[in-house]
Formats: sequence, C-alpha cells, structure tokens
Amino acid sequence: MAGRKALIVLAHPEKTSFNHAMAEAASSALRDKGWDVTISDLYAIGFSAVLSRHDITGPLKNPERFVYEEETGHAWKEGRLSSDIVAEQKKIEAADLIIFQFPLQWFGMPAILKGWFDRVFTEGFAYSMASMYDQGPFQKKKAMLSLTTGGMGSMYSPSGINGDMNVLLWPMQRGALHFCGFQVLAPQICYSVRYVGPEVRAQMLSAWRSRLGAVEQEKPLTFIPNSCFELSWAGGYVLKREVLAQQEGQQHGLTVGQHLGKAIPPDGQVRAQE
Ligand SMILES: Cc1cc2nc3c(=O)[nH]c(=O)nc-3n(C[C@H](O)[C@H](O)[C@H](O)COP(=O)(O)OP(=O)(O)OC[C@H]3O[C@@H](n4cnc5c(N)ncnc54)[C@H](O)[C@@H]3O)c2cc1C
Repeated sequence: MAGRKALIVLAHPEKTSFNHAMAEAASSALRDKGWDVTISDLYAIGFSAVLSRHDITGPLKNPERFVYEEETGHAWKEGRLSSDIVAEQKKIEAADLIIFQFPLQWFGMPAILKGWFDRVFTEGFAYSMASMYDQGPFQKKKAMLSLTTGGMGSMYSPSGINGDMNVLLWPMQRGALHFCGFQVLAPQICYSVRYVGPEVRAQMLSAWRSRLGAVEQEKPLTFIPNSCFELSWAGGYVLKREVLAQQEGQQHGLTVGQHLGKAIPPDGQVRAQE
C-alpha cells in the first residue's frame, strides 16, 4: 500500500548472517507492496548501547545527582538530546510499522538493541506515567519482533528445557512495545536457524516474505485494556474486582503477566486471537 512507512531495526554484526537475510527479505517484500522502508543497522551505524550523561547536550538540570529518565525527559522537551538518539526518534516518528530483527541472546534481545530501547525510548517521547499501554504515544503504530534462536522450537514449548517462549516474549512485547502504546503484531520466530538444513531456511525466508505481503491485514496480539485496571487502596493499578470475579472458575489466567496464579493462556504472546 502506497504511503506507508516501515522501519527495520537490525541487531546483528555479520552481513552474511541469517538475520541480515531476514532483514533484506523483509525490506524487499515490503517495498514490493509499496512501503517506504528504512533500515537502522545498529552495528553498521556503531550505535552506542550504553546510556550516559553524554545523551544530554548542555548543562544537566541536577548535576549533583544524575537521574536518567528525568534528565532525558527534560532534554527531549527542550531539544537537547544527543544527535544519534534524535536520529532514531525521527525514524520512529515517521514509521507506521517497526520490525525488530535480532538473534535471541540469553533469552532476550542483544545488548545493542536493548541499549537502543534504553536510550531512544525517552520519557515524554515514548511513554509517560499519564499515557502508557493502550494510551501510549505510539498507539497508532504497529511493531513486531522477528527473532532467530539457537534452540529448537520444542525446547521453547511449555514442557521444553528452555521453558515457554510466551514467557520470554512478555517483557519485550508487554514491558517495552505495548507499554509505549504499540499495537504488537505476532512475532516471527525462526528456531534453530544454524542447525536446520538449507531447504528449511529457504522456507523460513519465503514464509516471512509472504507474511509481510499481507501484514496490513493482521490483527495485533491481545492485551488487557487499561480500563480493566483501577488504582488500589495501596496505590498502583491492579485489575478491577469485577474483572477478577469474571475470571473465577476459568482454567487459564488472562495473560502471561496477569496469570492470576493459574496456567498461562497458550500462545497468547505468539499468536493473535482469531
Ligand atoms: C551471546 C549469545 C547468547 C545467545 N543466547 C541464546 C539463547 O538464550 N537462546 C538461544 O536459543 N540461542 C542463543 N544464542 C544463539 C543465537 O540465538 C543464534 O546463534 C542466532 O539466532 C543465529 O542467527 P544468525 O543470524 O547468527 O545465524 P547464522 O549463523 O548467521 O546463520 C545460520 C545459517 O543460515 C545461513 N544463511 C545466511 N544467509 C542465508 C540465506 N540468505 N539463505 C539461507 N541461509 C542463509 C548461514 O550461512 C548459516 O549456515 C546466543 C548466541 C549468542 C552469541
């Protein structure tokens, strides 16, 4: 569809890697459908993963005690963030869809990508306490994780030795993407890419291209709306009593996070509900 903009944030140091092949496949599949595609290749641009005082230009509001969220929040409002952060923020502002392409490392994202979130998603720009989750600044945008693993799919099942992939995805999808408002599309997961045969890798690339050809029609993953939570007497938002009452007798909890002490709903972080 013409006029739509996608950003691919790529976190892999090797140009001949499968992750680069996935990023290139995504870029060409989206361009074929009329998307305008930008790639942020974090290693190629030498993106710094470590947050520091240098992320703010000019004097700090409180040089005696450095509080990163507060200083970068002020700097964002006053246009005093460092140029590498501003460049990434502009790409996000322009994008309708953001794809994060990375190898799973220690059950999470690579440090360079984690650092991109730490430094680029500043207070005010990406979130505030008054506007988070479904009220977050990026609520009109879509985001998707596309990751590769060393371990096989069975190892990431609820009885697998690595544990349920849904649990690993929750911090990234709920804690970062949905926290900032993104509609989160189901992740693309290529398991065990180094150990499967070349035919399987070719199928993975082809399935990825086909999926992106129709990504516009995809429904996002389901999260519990903010309206189901209320301020508790002790402070902090918790599920409303009537929502909890409706869940009595249900076999599964609501989400990976709001599991209510029950089994987590199968594949809630991996597949969108029909
Ligand atoms: C620090 C660290 C921590 C890690 N932690 C975890 C973890 O917690 N859990 C886990 O499961 N794994 C973990 N891993 C493994 C990691 O996730 C995998 O090594 C990674 O996902 C493999 O992706 P890649 O792009 O590097 O593959 P590559 O090794 O680059 O590629 C795999 C194969 O695809 C081939 N290929 C490249 N391009 C194409 C193409 N166009 N068409 C077809 N084939 C192609 C390559 O030649 C190669 O044979 C970790 C790795 C590191 C370094």
